[in-house]
Amino acid sequence: MNDQYLKLRQKMRDQFPRMPTEIVDRIVRQSMDEARKEAEAEIQKLAGRISELTASLQAEPDAVGCKCSVCGNWQKWTPSGMVCKNGHGGARGINKLLYSAPPLLTNKEA
Ligand SMILES: [Zn+2]
Repeated sequence: MNDQYLKLRQKMRDQFPRMPTEIVDRIVRQSMDEARKEAEAEIQKLAGRISELTASLQAEPDAVGCKCSVCGNWQKWTPSGMVCKNGHGGARGINKLLYSAPPLLTNKEA
């Protein structure tokens, strides 16, 4: 019996002083079981969502990564900035999102 169990049981006993102990215990056990099952189901749901997100990131690196605008290879982050495998350091990165984004307003247009 853990703290939570004892606290719940005490609460039940305070609220229903005439209820037989075995019934109090059964109700407390059942409500703790239900709470545990709900928590487990929630954890399963979150784990499922995390693996979906991980899979989508792995399947579509071009949705989040950038390709080198000079040679088209994937860029990766280094301490001195974005670099592709051909060493085009600091070359602008391009991906689907950036490519399809509307042009930025310049000071003249704003
Ligand atoms: Zn490059």
